[in-house]
Amino acid sequence: MIVANRKKIPEIRDMIKDYDKVLLVGCGTCVTVCLSGGEREVGILGSALRMSMKLIGREHIVIDECTIERQCEDAFIDILALRASNYDAICSFGCGAGVQALAERFPQIPVYPGLNTQFIGILESQGVWAEKCAACGKCRLGEYVGVCPITRCAKSMLNGPCGGSREGKCEVNKDIPCAWQLIYDRAVKLGTVDTFTSIVSPHDWSTGLSGGVRKVVREDQCIAGMVPDA
Ligand code: SF4
Ligand code: SF4
Repeated sequence: MIVANRKKIPEIRDMIKDYDKVLLVGCGTCVTVCLSGGEREVGILGSALRMSMKLIGREHIVIDECTIERQCEDAFIDILALRASNYDAICSFGCGAGVQALAERFPQIPVYPGLNTQFIGILESQGVWAEKCAACGKCRLGEYVGVCPITRCAKSMLNGPCGGSREGKCEVNKDIPCAWQLIYDRAVKLGTVDTFTSIVSPHDWSTGLSGGVRKVVREDQCIAGMVPDA
C-alpha cells in the first residue's frame, strides 16, 4: 500500500486559514488502511482544525469533511463534484496522487495536501509501517530471494553488502536491518547462496523516476480508438 502520515495541525491550518469555506476530503483506500486519511482521521482532524482556527481568531471559517472511496480515480470523484463547487479550497487527505487527481478535476479550486506521502510499504506490526518498494519499474526481487536491495539497502547495493553491516544492522542506522544480511539469511534457508557468485549488471534506472514521469498503457483495456500515447 501507499503509506502516508498526516501533516501537523498548525501546518494544515496555515495552508487553509485565508479561505472562508474549506472542504477536507479523505480517501477510503490506502490512507484509510494506514490510518492517516480515512473517514475517522478526517473527522478527528476537522474538529482539531476548527479548534485551532478559533485559537487564531478565525473561527468563522467553515470546515467540512467528507471521504470518498478512492481519490486517485476520476469516477470516484464524481460524487464530490457538485459539493466541491461550494467551497473556496480543498484540503486532500489522499496520497500525492489523490491530491493531484482532485487538482486536475477542479482547476478552479485550490487544493492542498493534508498528508505527507511516504512510500510503498507494509504493516509490520500494530502502528508500524515499513518501506519495501521504490517502484523502480523493473522488479528484480526474483534475483534477490524476495528482498529488495534497491529499497532496503541504504546504498542500493546490488552486488553484495557494503562492509559496514554490524550484527545484522545497517551502518547508517542501527535500527534498520541490513538488507544484505536479510538476503543472505534467506538464501541460506532456501539453499540458493551459490546463485550470488556472479556480478550482476547495473540497474536500468530509466524505468524508474530517473527516466521521467511514467505511464502504464494497457491497450487491451483501453476503449477502442482511444489508446493514448505511451
Ligand atoms: S526491484 Fe524495483 S519494483 Fe521490485 S521491489 Fe525493488 S524497487 Fe520495487
Ligand atoms: S549496511 Fe547493509 S543495508 Fe546498510 S548500506 Fe551496507 S549493505 Fe546496505
